Amino acid sequence: MEYFSTRGQDEKVSAAEAIIRGLAPDGGLYVPDHFPRITESDIDRMRSLDYRGRAEIIMRLFLDDFSAGEIESLCGHAYSSNFDCPDIAPTRFVDENTAYLELWHGPTSAFKDMALQMLPRLLTASLKKRGVSLGVCILVATSGDTGKAALEGFADVPGTRIMVFYPRDGVSDVQRLQMVTQRGENVGVCAVEGNFDDAQTGVKAIFSDRALAGRLREKGWFLSSANSINWGRLLPQIAYYFSCYCDMMNAGVISAGGEMNFCVPTGNFGNILAGWIAKRMGLPVKRFICASNENNVLTDFINTGVYDKRRDFHLTSSPSMDILVSSNLERLLYFITKDAGKTAAWMRSLSGEGRYFVGNDVLREIQADFAAGYCSDAEVQAEIARVWSENGYLIDTHTAVASAVLGAYRKQSGDMIPAAVVSTASPYKFCASVLNALGETADAPGHELISRLESATGTAAPAPLAKLAGKPERFKDCIAPENMTSAVEKFLS
Ligand SMILES: *Cc1c(COP(=O)(O)O)cnc(C)c1O
Repeated sequence: MEYFSTRGQDEKVSAAEAIIRGLAPDGGLYVPDHFPRITESDIDRMRSLDYRGRAEIIMRLFLDDFSAGEIESLCGHAYSSNFDCPDIAPTRFVDENTAYLELWHGPTSAFKDMALQMLPRLLTASLKKRGVSLGVCILVATSGDTGKAALEGFADVPGTRIMVFYPRDGVSDVQRLQMVTQRGENVGVCAVEGNFDDAQTGVKAIFSDRALAGRLREKGWFLSSANSINWGRLLPQIAYYFSCYCDMMNAGVISAGGEMNFCVPTGNFGNILAGWIAKRMGLPVKRFICASNENNVLTDFINTGVYDKRRDFHLTSSPSMDILVSSNLERLLYFITKDAGKTAAWMRSLSGEGRYFVGNDVLREIQADFAAGYCSDAEVQAEIARVWSENGYLIDTHTAVASAVLGAYRKQSGDMIPAAVVSTASPYKFCASVLNALGETADAPGHELISRLESATGTAAPAPLAKLAGKPERFKDCIAPENMTSAVEKFLS
């Protein structure tokens, strides 16, 4: 299978090359040249396998430059005792046709582990395959979840280093503690004065600094990114949609060939796009319901065909979805139109005028597969309280956005077929909001809120979060944005 850019098919590359490069040279995103097919009998075979086995089948189809043994080893490392649940991504039912697909049993308690526990080894295996002898240094600017998940994925992986910059004025106390206590000999963590944009702008400047790249190459390093535009982050996410479908069949909720819906809390459009690719491969999904918070640019897009980022930015209780430019949507537009010229023109229009309209034909195709809705922070609080009181099941703020949007979708459309809400974070990552939703106070440092939520609900926090309280803080530096480049050079010297 070959990969090319959403903005032009002149250059075709292997999976390994696409993963090493991340972004295509023309600024587009890498896409596979076709979608492999999965049949009803393939799914039937997957039903009896564990998560690793299911993931191997999917990964093999897209990574034909990797051997079966390599893929077995990649999945074996990515999904084992680093997860606190042997099922890896369990499907939990709250009634006969509603389930939550829990993607947060990895080391950082958010769904980004599903890809970032895989990416480092996928990347180092790709470098070896392509004969690249340089070490890779991952640079991340993070508003919270990505930085920690990338640190945990790359910690002590041979041939790699990772440096994470987080905004001093922009992450929760639990998120900060998770990062500054990170283990590993090859990791660096540094606060940056200012907000997320300041950190992000600094990292972008480092990536485009040719002179710096030259100096680092002489020392044996090249810089790469771990964000969700990399094909290597999207690919591992396709597997859990198949896995959930198998769980639904095994529970007797759907029979062979029967359809289900997925409702996905969405930010950068990576998670939900992986699901849509699964559908194109043959998974019987009727609709993907795209759930947003008050930053509802995708709700408007899916309902009208107009993507317009010129709007107020809201800080919400589901911060990992506070996004106005959903990068992975570019891949959907390419897949639907198969037209790199059109896709490139829309992206130019987005960065120039701040908006684009895809036209009614493309809109109709999108609406055949997607529905969309959004909800406010007040509705998020009410949904956490409702699910807890009716089902004794505790969800985080991001999952609550999707849970509320699924309820509204079902009411409006009457479409009551079996559905899974994709659950993207442990409620213990967002203790303050969850405690407030349950009518408890949340006026204490992060690690105290964790034990408060445990005693209020009689549930247990994931072990890595519960253990944060006693850990030493390894990384104390806080620098001005203009000093980020020299911090990277020092880190790699
Ligand atoms: C990153 C994240 C999301 C958004 O996922 P996308 O792939 O960017 O759409 C949702 N919930 C949580 C908890 C996240 O960390």
